[in-house]
Amino acid sequence: MKQQNIEKYVGPNGTPYFIQSIDRQLDKLYGPFKPFSKLDGVTELIVTVLSQNTNDVNRDRAFNNLKDKFPTWDDVIKAPVKKIEDAIRVGGLAHNKSKAIKAILKEIKSRYGKFTLDPIAKLPLNEALNELTRFPSVGMKTAACVMVFSYGKPVIPVDTHVHRLSRRLGLTTEKSTPDQVFSVLMEITPDELKYRFHVYLIRHGRAICKSQKPRCPDCTLSHLCPSAEL
Ligand code: SF4
Repeated sequence: MKQQNIEKYVGPNGTPYFIQSIDRQLDKLYGPFKPFSKLDGVTELIVTVLSQNTNDVNRDRAFNNLKDKFPTWDDVIKAPVKKIEDAIRVGGLAHNKSKAIKAILKEIKSRYGKFTLDPIAKLPLNEALNELTRFPSVGMKTAACVMVFSYGKPVIPVDTHVHRLSRRLGLTTEKSTPDQVFSVLMEITPDELKYRFHVYLIRHGRAICKSQKPRCPDCTLSHLCPSAEL
């Protein structure tokens, strides 16, 4: 794949207009953008842990089962890991996720005396992200989801679709890791576009720029994309 030179797309005022061109095309297709309904930080964190390595349907089933069996987070803390594991089994990786969820909730309660991530969200963004990644099973993507979805911070989570599209669109190199893609996107995406750009890339990755067979002839970005196969 021919790599794009990002510098080439930065306008005289530092405006990253390549990103804006992509965003504009995607907005025509998927917009107008509406943020998701907001969950509190703790719920978003647990939902995002449950979403790891599964799809949205099974994540939601796992979360609903968890809340049916254990209506409060205190109930989860008191429950044996095995029972939590049984409740969330449909979401996959239940053994690891159940241990992580219990440990996360215990840690939050012991730190703040209640179930809140608000003190972390008040930290400068980088500190908040690093603080969240100290919890078990919480990587940068999960931390970024909490900060953008629950707290509206300008951060762009890199999931598998965002990772793939960033590489194909030449925003990063072919070999860039998710953490490297995250650093690049944080730098070159205007703050006001970060949330929706994340959502649009996921939608486009699911509908058009699929992992195995990208539908380049149908793609609204083909004139901008160095990987287009037409
Ligand atoms: S042109 Fe092809 S590779 Fe590029 S974004 Fe569109 S579907 Fe993906």
